[in-house]
Amino acid sequence: MEQTALTPDFSFLERAEASGPFNAAECFQCRKCTNGCPVSFEMDLFPDQIIRLAVLGQRREILQSKTIWVCASCETCSTRCPNGVRIAELMDYFKELAVRAGVAPALPRVAGFHKAFLENIGLTGRVFEGALLPAWWLKTGQIGEKLFTGDLRNDLKQAVGLLGKNRMSLAPGKIKGRSKVKAILRSSS
Ligand code: SF4
Ligand code: SF4
Repeated sequence: MEQTALTPDFSFLERAEASGPFNAAECFQCRKCTNGCPVSFEMDLFPDQIIRLAVLGQRREILQSKTIWVCASCETCSTRCPNGVRIAELMDYFKELAVRAGVAPALPRVAGFHKAFLENIGLTGRVFEGALLPAWWLKTGQIGEKLFTGDLRNDLKQAVGLLGKNRMSLAPGKIKGRSKVKAILRSSS
């Protein structure tokens, strides 16, 4: 197995906890988080390993991992943790940190979806499905692929079906607290 040098960042956890607290230092590695995670099979590092790496100041390994992008924020891990480690929230924090630090995401399409989703919500304060997927496809260069494979035609057929059943609208809905949502998104970007 190839050996790589580890470069601990000793203040990494302290800085992360200042945005929490996430209680990562309370972890005693029981793995209840990982055993309950519904998408751990797609991860390159399990949730308990992410926590351990955070405690050991392994910033690069965490921010370059697939795991932070695979995490579906379902909160199962945080609910199961006997020590109150806020694993799901920490995964979100690492995603944001990776974006701010300009770390190339291990899963660019997933990262592109996050970006498109937040931009979409920023427009009207709630998700407008009619624009979300096209924006994501454009952002991640999937349009060409979809045209080539015929997927775009199938997606359009589905969209027409959803419109016909009133499960999707042609215009975005608006909410009252739109400016508050925008302010939240601005403060976290
Ligand atoms: S469930 Fe909590 S204590 Fe157990 S490994 Fe996961 S984070 Fe650590
Ligand atoms: S929040 Fe993320 S890491 Fe935790 S159980 Fe859900 S998918 Fe897994």
